[in-house]
Amino acid sequence: MKTLLFDIDGTLIITNDTGTRAIEAVLSENFGVATPNLDIKFGGRTDNSLIKEVLHLNAIIPSEANYSGFIEAYRKKLPASLNELGGAVLPGVLELLRRLGERDDLRCAVMTGNLKETATQKLRHFGLLDHFDLIFGGDFDEDRRHLARRTALFLRGAHGHQVGDGTIVIGDTPADIACGLDINATVLGVCTGNFDRQTLTQAGAHLVHSDLSDVEAIYRWLTS
Ligand SMILES: [Mg+2]
Repeated sequence: MKTLLFDIDGTLIITNDTGTRAIEAVLSENFGVATPNLDIKFGGRTDNSLIKEVLHLNAIIPSEANYSGFIEAYRKKLPASLNELGGAVLPGVLELLRRLGERDDLRCAVMTGNLKETATQKLRHFGLLDHFDLIFGGDFDEDRRHLARRTALFLRGAHGHQVGDGTIVIGDTPADIACGLDINATVLGVCTGNFDRQTLTQAGAHLVHSDLSDVEAIYRWLTS
């Protein structure tokens, strides 16, 4: 059975810096940081790697207790941040997922740098959670390629799935594309995040769309 692995932020939804705002709140309210420093690149990274860098930049000892405390506070703050800042499901997403969900020869899953729990919160907030059978989050891997390898191993172990048999990664950053290529998946790039067509093509995407609104063409490509 073919598996489609969707990224979340910039691919399915935009969240108006929800995560950034929640992280700022954790730093100031839970760790007493007067002026939170978030001068880091967010796009395409795993939360595992982001949180470690955030702790470092804000002079918080990267102990297991601080790391888990940060995650616990972050997941508690995210729902309020989502409610406050809004965001939106990107064009074509609902229709595409609905049509893909009618097929019994493929599985829609999420492979994201978000922690599994915050990925679940975001998908639930935007009414997308029921479209996905599995969520692979960035809880354990600093490098997104390692997340992809773990995902591929899981699919093989749990479902007898051979990644070369038709896994497709859909994402908005060069990191999504690199991790898809790393596991020999086919990769669809979408320009609804911060990267343009040229960048995603150069990163090695097999196909790039400006967004997912051309549902018919994208559906045919994903299911062919
Ligand atoms: Mg993304």
